[in-house]
Amino acid sequence: MSDLLHRQIAEMLHSAKHILAVAHIRPDGDAVGSLLGLGLSLRAAGQKVDMLLADGVPAPFRHLPGSEQVITRPCAEYDVVVVLDSSDLQRTGGVLGERQPDLNIDHHATNLRFARVNLVDPQAVATCAILAQNLPRWGFPVSGEVASALLTGILTDTIGFRTSNMSPEVLRLAADLMEAGANLPELYRAGLVQKSFEAARYWGFGLERLQREDGLIWTTLLLADRQAAAYNGNDDADLINFLSSTDGDVIVLFNEQKGGKVKVSWRARPGLDISTLALRFGGGGHPAAAGAEISGTIEEVRERVLSETRAFLAAHRH
Ligand code: AMP
Ligand code: MN
Ligand code: MN
Repeated sequence: MSDLLHRQIAEMLHSAKHILAVAHIRPDGDAVGSLLGLGLSLRAAGQKVDMLLADGVPAPFRHLPGSEQVITRPCAEYDVVVVLDSSDLQRTGGVLGERQPDLNIDHHATNLRFARVNLVDPQAVATCAILAQNLPRWGFPVSGEVASALLTGILTDTIGFRTSNMSPEVLRLAADLMEAGANLPELYRAGLVQKSFEAARYWGFGLERLQREDGLIWTTLLLADRQAAAYNGNDDADLINFLSSTDGDVIVLFNEQKGGKVKVSWRARPGLDISTLALRFGGGGHPAAAGAEISGTIEEVRERVLSETRAFLAAHRH
C-alpha cells in the first residue's frame, strides 16, 4: 500500500467533523471488532464518531467496551463515511442510501472498491489486522479497549489462529494487542468457544439434517428451527465453522432468512477457491470461506446452489 494512500486516509480521518463507521449485516467478530476498534480509537483522539451495525451487536460480542453505543440507523449528517469488512455496499444493509462512502477498509479479494478511497488488502487475515497495523501509523491510539476489539476480529476470522493464511506476523500483531491490554483467553472464550444453550439446540437441527454426496457436505437451518430453539440471532451461531472441521472438500450451509431469502455459506478445503462461486451468486468472501444472500425459497436456492457447487467440484477434482 502506497504512502500516499495512507497519508490521504490519515488526513481524512483527522480533519473530519462527524464520522460514520459502518460494518456488515449479520456481523461477525471482525465486523464488530473493526467497528469498535476504529470508532473508539478515533474518539480517543477527540473525533466525533457514530458506530453503526444495521443488525446491532450480536450477544457473543456484547461484552466488548463500546458495543452498547452502536446504533442501527444513521442519525446525523456525516462528512466522512467509513465502511468496514464489507466487500460490497449491500453488506451494510442499505443504511447509506445513495451516499458514496469516503473510505472502504476491507480484506476480501472480492471487494468491489465502492468508496472514494479504498484500502483493500486480501493478504490481511482480518479487517481488524489492517487496523491494528495502521491506526498508530495514522496517528490514532490503541488503548486496551481498542486492542480488545481488534484482537477479537483477528481471533474470529482466523478461527483461533488456525486458518491457512496464518503467519508469524499475525501472531506478533496479536502479541502487540495483548501488550496493549487485550485479554486473549477471555476474548477467545467469549468470541469463539462460549455457546448459549439456545445456540447449541439450534445447532442440533442443522446437525440432524447433515447430508453428504462425494466430497460435498451440506445442511439447512430453517426459521422454524430458530423459533423451536429460542435462538435470537439471524445467523448460524457459527455452525459452519464447526462443519468446516468435517472431512468434506466443500461444506455448504443454507440458512433461511425472513423476506424470502436464504443466506448461503461455503467453506472449502485448502487448495480450492469458492469465493468466485459466491461472487456468481452476488456474494463474496475468501478462497476458503465465502457467502451470499440469495432470493428464493429454501428448496429453490438449495437446488441451484448444490448443482453449481457440484459442477465446481467436478471441474476442480484431480
Ligand atoms: P459467512 O459464511 O457469513 O461466515 O461468510 C464467509 C465469508 O464470506 C466472510 O468473509 C463474509 O464476509 C463473506 N460473505 C458472507 N456473505 C456475503 C455476502 N452476501 N456478500 C459478500 N460477502 C459475503
Ligand atoms: Mn466479516
Ligand atoms: Mn473479515
